[in-house]
Amino acid sequence: MTNITSREIRFASRPSGVPTANNFTLAEITLEPLRGQQVLVRNLFMSVDPYMRGRMNDRKSYVPPFEIGQVLEGGAIGEVIESCSSDFKIGDVVTSRYGWREAFIAEPKELYRVNKATLPLSVYLGVLGMTGMTAWAGLTMVEVKAGDVIYISGAAGAVGHVAGQLAKLRGCRVIGSAGSDEKVKRLMEECGFDAAFNYKDAPVLEQLNRAAPEGIDVYFDNVGGESLEAALSSLRVHGRIIACGGISGYNEEKPKPGPSNLFNMTTKRLTMKGMIVGDWLDRRSDFEKEVGAHYQAGRLKSIESVVYGIDQAVAAFIGLFEGKNLGKMVVQLAS
Ligand code: NDP
Repeated sequence: MTNITSREIRFASRPSGVPTANNFTLAEITLEPLRGQQVLVRNLFMSVDPYMRGRMNDRKSYVPPFEIGQVLEGGAIGEVIESCSSDFKIGDVVTSRYGWREAFIAEPKELYRVNKATLPLSVYLGVLGMTGMTAWAGLTMVEVKAGDVIYISGAAGAVGHVAGQLAKLRGCRVIGSAGSDEKVKRLMEECGFDAAFNYKDAPVLEQLNRAAPEGIDVYFDNVGGESLEAALSSLRVHGRIIACGGISGYNEEKPKPGPSNLFNMTTKRLTMKGMIVGDWLDRRSDFEKEVGAHYQAGRLKSIESVVYGIDQAVAAFIGLFEGKNLGKMVVQLAS
């Protein structure tokens, strides 16, 4: 069998600054018949993520750069439609790294089966997937606990809105910043944040000081730049910083100098810890137990922005840098 066609997004050229549609091409291929233990999967949803921007530079980071001409890679969830493996049967739902394409052939070890009764299945790319695990790992890494005052930048995004809700469930006072009034409202009304502000309205430090006059204990950094500088000023003695991301700098052609007030690290004896979610895979069952239980019990909300069709995937990716998403940005490829 097989011989089905699949459209896929290829990397055409390296962006300088913000990526544009010209950096990508859409191509169509016909998949070969399966061999050995191979499995054929039709993707239902794929993920677009800010870290992919780093892979578009010609520099080694913690993940290798994309090569010009290659099909892009990223998280996806799909349904097995043909299988030569005894481990997977038709109808199984699996996550993989084979995003940015409508269908693909993989070896069994490249697939991870999930419970298809959990709906919508796109949560396996968000709250119950990589970004949810990033939120959980960040909080766990610096032992966020009841009574902590935590500030989260990028709070209305995939990682941020989960981090905020999990911190609330741990008994923290939670403050978030995001780039629109609508996002601020949703953080307060749907995610239970104690305070939230639009970082575009006034200097971050001014707004953070208003929300946390006594200072903060933890900063969950998704953004870097001005937010990191404000947090360094606001953090109390022995405060902790989760260095998760720095999206405000991802499209800079020349990195900006670091925060002018870094000496707070010394005077306030702060700790700043870097975190890569991939290092936490051996804790996946702990994450699934804790966060899965909150989600299934309705204590943790999943917010998503969904766009439809592989021909919209590039726009969805670029949209991350324009704040177009609320919660996890996913692309639905089939239903
Ligand atoms: P988001 O869903 O938060 O999407 C990106 C958001 O970033 C946008 O919606 C936008 O929201 C905000 N943004 C874009 N440009 C800027 C800017 N110049 N200044 C401030 N905010 C901006 O993405 P994720 O939740 O997936 O990722 C959040 C962060 O976490 C990223 O930095 C990412 O790289 C990092 N990350 C790190 C991981 C790790 O293992 N360390 C794993 C996963 C993610 P707004 O409207 O509020 O501006």
